[in-house]
Amino acid sequence: MEIIHVSAECYPVAKVGGLADVVGALPKYQQNLGHTAKVVMPMYRTAFLYRHEWDVVHKGRTHMGNWWYEYTVIKEHDNELGFDLYLIDIYGLLDREGIYGYADDSERFTAFQVAFVDWLGGWNHRPDIVHVHDHHTGLIPFMMQYSADYGHLKGIKTILTIHNAQYQGWMGWGKGTYLPRYDMWKSGLLDWNGTINPLACAIRCAWKVTTVSPSYMEELRYSANGLEPLFEYEKGKCIGILNGIDTQVWDTETDPYLGTHYNSDTVEAGKSAHKLELCKRFHLDPSKPLIIFIGRFALEKAADLLPTVIGDAFHYIGRTMNFLILGSGDPNVEGRLANLQSMVAQDYHAFIGYNEQLSHQMYAGADFLLMPSRVEPCGLNQMYALRYGTVPIVRSTGGLKDTVIDYGDWQGFGVRFEHANVGDITHGIYRALELYQDKVRFDEIRQRIMHIDHSWENSASEYIALYLS
Ligand code: ADP
Repeated sequence: MEIIHVSAECYPVAKVGGLADVVGALPKYQQNLGHTAKVVMPMYRTAFLYRHEWDVVHKGRTHMGNWWYEYTVIKEHDNELGFDLYLIDIYGLLDREGIYGYADDSERFTAFQVAFVDWLGGWNHRPDIVHVHDHHTGLIPFMMQYSADYGHLKGIKTILTIHNAQYQGWMGWGKGTYLPRYDMWKSGLLDWNGTINPLACAIRCAWKVTTVSPSYMEELRYSANGLEPLFEYEKGKCIGILNGIDTQVWDTETDPYLGTHYNSDTVEAGKSAHKLELCKRFHLDPSKPLIIFIGRFALEKAADLLPTVIGDAFHYIGRTMNFLILGSGDPNVEGRLANLQSMVAQDYHAFIGYNEQLSHQMYAGADFLLMPSRVEPCGLNQMYALRYGTVPIVRSTGGLKDTVIDYGDWQGFGVRFEHANVGDITHGIYRALELYQDKVRFDEIRQRIMHIDHSWENSASEYIALYLS
């Protein structure tokens, strides 16, 4: 089968979160299964672009309404990622340093999608599957199915994977003219509550819809930022497939970001070395358990609760643990977490920013990873933590529920709590510290979790089975 993934992110080309990790790994594993998988994404000005050689494979000209523009498709010369990688360059729109967050994001991603469909329309063969990811590529199934200009793409099977249903790409109907000519009788497919909603449109128009964990699929029928009835209505074509992790990138024995390599036999010494390094760098006490948080400071991640949780933990449990935070996002949360440092230095440090290397070192050096998420479609951090021998403390939601078993349950290994509130999170931390005191059990768990298999092999096969269906 020939599968074309279309996405706004792909690791290591451009990454904001888990979407990049998935699109950087899934095609590689699909290739290993004997299929041809390709990735098409916008050409941003990221370091990856400048470090690699590119071949121009297509130059085209298309339009959004009255605005005509030229686009160029380039392909990575050395196939370094293990699959064909294509970038679409649209001068002035996509070629920026950032990925999202511009006032004209609607124009940027619509232009990208129109260019993709225009390019695909010129191919002299048809791929078997066009697999789109999240709202940034959500108009593609509609265009392929209903645009008069690309009638010959009608019938190519499209799959939508939802990595996060909170963001839907809403845009006013004034931008309806951006789409290539389409059957006006079908305009209702674009609409949700009076605006163009690319995610809703893709849910309706894709042949199959997947979410990145089975529990998240269930939850969307009750909580989907306004799209609940649509998920209920379309449930027949929706399925949850748990993400995998790239075990070649995330490998404690070869990870280039780690100075000391280790495996489950040497987990204690390996993790101690990393913990020592982290504690030295951030002036923390290595004799105390180290609890980390890594992620975007967005409402979904409940990072806004961390300052109160940390204050309460120190107050009620005592200064018996260290916290190390890595993340960025909401400036208010960034400010509160940075300010906390002056009050509880020595047991706490917040690194505000994005730092891939530090994240690897933190998974390696931490005792616990805290994920109090309000919403967590799958969550990759907890799977990386497991593989690096770090015990996850998670809220029972979405993919966290599907991947972490509480240590009080049969074959358990992590800490789970019900609600994303300060009381439940603090209690989760308390239970984690209790586990830490039981050294024999804690060590046994650390060794065991490093062997839990969350590799892509299983999930990649599930996607292939879905395509075949
Ligand atoms: P989401 O996609 O919702 O942000 P995921 O858990 O699916 O959450 O994926 C998050 C990914 O981004 C992980 O690989 C995590 O290590 C990484 N990450 C998040 N924030 C940072 C940061 N500040 N620095 C380094 N890596 C980060």
